[in-house]
Amino acid sequence: MSEDYKAMWQSLGLDLAAHDQLLEVLGQGYQDIFLSQQARPEGMEYFNFVMSEVHGLRIKELIDGQAEGKKVVGSFCVFVPEEIVRATGATLVGLCTGADFATEEVDKYLPRNTCALIKSAFGFKLGKVCPYLESADMIVGENTCDGKKKSYETLNDLVPNLYVMDLPQMHTKEGKALLAAEYDRFKKAMEELTGVEITAERLKEGIAIVNNRRAAMHRLYKLRASDPAPISGLDALLINQVAFYDDPVRFTGSVNKLCDELEKRIAQGEGATAKGAPRLLFSGCPMAVPNWKLPWVVESAGAVVVGEESCVGERGTRNLTEASGETVEELMTAIVDRYWKIDCAVFTPNPERPEHIKQMAADYKAQGVIHYGLQFCQPYAMEAIPVEKKVEEGDLPVLRIDTDYSMEDAEQLKTRVEAFLEMIA
Ligand code: SF4
Ligand code: SF4
Repeated sequence: MSEDYKAMWQSLGLDLAAHDQLLEVLGQGYQDIFLSQQARPEGMEYFNFVMSEVHGLRIKELIDGQAEGKKVVGSFCVFVPEEIVRATGATLVGLCTGADFATEEVDKYLPRNTCALIKSAFGFKLGKVCPYLESADMIVGENTCDGKKKSYETLNDLVPNLYVMDLPQMHTKEGKALLAAEYDRFKKAMEELTGVEITAERLKEGIAIVNNRRAAMHRLYKLRASDPAPISGLDALLINQVAFYDDPVRFTGSVNKLCDELEKRIAQGEGATAKGAPRLLFSGCPMAVPNWKLPWVVESAGAVVVGEESCVGERGTRNLTEASGETVEELMTAIVDRYWKIDCAVFTPNPERPEHIKQMAADYKAQGVIHYGLQFCQPYAMEAIPVEKKVEEGDLPVLRIDTDYSMEDAEQLKTRVEAFLEMIA
């Protein structure tokens, strides 16, 4: 990234030396994991560019937008309704939670047995290396798992602009009423932050922007059903990750352009991997940037990941928001209906999730499922056992993996993945 951004990073209060260190590690990791892949589609050039400017040009765009009055909202969860944010002209960005940083500092604020994702959010704040966090006008935390819920009490002392959204834990009538009330409260908070009144017309525009991006992602997911897979799981994950940062309209255009190319590849029998390569589905905790370890291990072993049952993946983008309503109330109800279907493991009971996993495995012709859990993540660890049982009843083997963001277990993971692939073969 260009030297030109130093003044911008400084004005955001970043620790330049630490930030340089982070960019160096990220750049090297990207080079080793992504740029070394064979037979990448040309359309990935766009995503390479976005990643090379993820702390540069994209931040500049956000800051330039702020100078024109456009607010930036940071979020940690796919339950934050983007349609409402877009309806005010503001931008929603996902906050990085995919790498360890400032771990000694983090240990002063959080118990050691906290999941890596929460620790990472704190590490990026305490290490002063995340320009998204520092440029956000509002940071939305959500009461999902206990770890997040309680850590927001601590985060509240570290950031000046935390907004906490309460979320239901049960799919009941009362739970849905809570979600509706919380989205209404969030709508008011967004109107207050931006000074923009959310009308039906504005809400429809917000819904269209987000739906178009989801539809492009659905198109990409379907193309991965081909054998050979036209795109690697690593690249598909990267696109899922970039969706949280990039301008949504530009991103949608780039994904559709890539899909045009992938359709041609499929027609010519070309793929990112060899025909007949073992096909795996990922399921479990979200993999935020730059968490690329497991797909890298899996694809280095000769398999291909054909889908992600994850919030950075299909759980996050599944289902469009119905846009036919004419009033703000009707459209808000449609938004609640759409998010109500997200089957995060924080819900109890959560019978839809194994069904979705089986459906996705069938749709993308997966031969096995890797259940990915982050160490100390109670909801996904607890749910992994019944999920495995239900999915294996359908004759689909499941490999349960619990890991963190360090590379210490990479060799051990490789051995387990290779054994799993042999078993599938
Ligand atoms: S896994 Fe649950 S808490 Fe995490 S982003 Fe998804 S919906 Fe939110
Ligand atoms: S990975 Fe698990 S423990 Fe960590 S924030 Fe997500 S739901 Fe909570």
